[in-house]
Amino acid sequence: MRLLVSRAQTARVSTILREEFGAEFRENDAPMGVAEARAALAEYDALLPTLGDAFVAEAFAGPVRAKLLANFGVGVNHIDLQAARAAGVNVTNTPGAVTDATADIAMTLLLMSARRASEGERMLRAGDWSGWAPTQMLGAHVTGKRLGIIGMGRIGQAVARRAHFGFGMEIAYATRSPKDLPFTARPLPLPDVLAWADFVVLAVPATAETRNMIGAAELAAMRPHAHLINVARGDVVDEVALITALEAGQIGGAGLDVYAQEPLVPEALRRLNNVTLLPHLGTATEEVRDAMGMMAIENLRAFRDGKALPNPV
Ligand code: NAP
Repeated sequence: MRLLVSRAQTARVSTILREEFGAEFRENDAPMGVAEARAALAEYDALLPTLGDAFVAEAFAGPVRAKLLANFGVGVNHIDLQAARAAGVNVTNTPGAVTDATADIAMTLLLMSARRASEGERMLRAGDWSGWAPTQMLGAHVTGKRLGIIGMGRIGQAVARRAHFGFGMEIAYATRSPKDLPFTARPLPLPDVLAWADFVVLAVPATAETRNMIGAAELAAMRPHAHLINVARGDVVDEVALITALEAGQIGGAGLDVYAQEPLVPEALRRLNNVTLLPHLGTATEEVRDAMGMMAIENLRAFRDGKALPNPV
């Protein structure tokens, strides 16, 4: 079985992929372009791709030898699932392994945005801190506030648990189907969540339905002091509308881990003080990247052994 791995992996995962599968690794860590994805589909039996690798419809248009894309990550918006299916290529992902780490980054962003942590650190590093003062850099209090979660799946629920049990926050959520949750949380339509919340966390997958689901109208529906936190995908938010809202001080602030055209982050966004910007750190710990790799490996093993795939998408 010929296996191509699109990016460097942790030591543990690389060793297994090489020793057990004789995997070949691409030499650079940049995303695969369409031509490269197309060639790989023609030459390999299985691929281990990830975020940003261009498995768009065009990549499946040529001859396809591959039978499996064992994606590294839960988000599969870089793969045209319909085109993959039509070409007879199975797709698997790594759900669960990413949940807690991504929820931790959502809380990091929520706290940083509320408490102006990035802005304060920039001020201190610039040598502009004049010392503690009762009215200096006042941010938003978090404990006991209202949290709106958009997309109450694995990550949404992990954020809700942290916010409810750790910070005594009230929770409301908008999702496709109401959930049976071990804490009080109200299912509401999206506009009602936006109009109610002090903090809004986005945790939906990037799909045709969620594309730009937060645009100018949704930002206008938010309370003027509310903060928007996005750990989902960049294209869930209309980035231009968000910049306009932040420039006008229409919402309290934003905390972003993901962007519409990564790694490009608009200069207008980077100039603003009321936004906290992280470089897609959601799952970036060694344990989690090991766990994601091991999950992809379990899917490869099942494929090799002709068994049912554990995590089909
Ligand atoms: P999940 O368990 O499938 O949860 C997604 C939730 O979104 C589900 O509850 C789903 O509703 C809801 N949803 C889907 N479409 C919707 C729509 N149109 N309107 C309202 N709700 C909708 O997925 P997850 O594991 O929590 O991951 C969510 C996303 O986070 C991933 O797809 C990925 O893009 C992103 N992510 C980012 C990072 C990072 O590094 N920042 C890391 C991991 C994942 P139902 O339950 O009713 O189906």
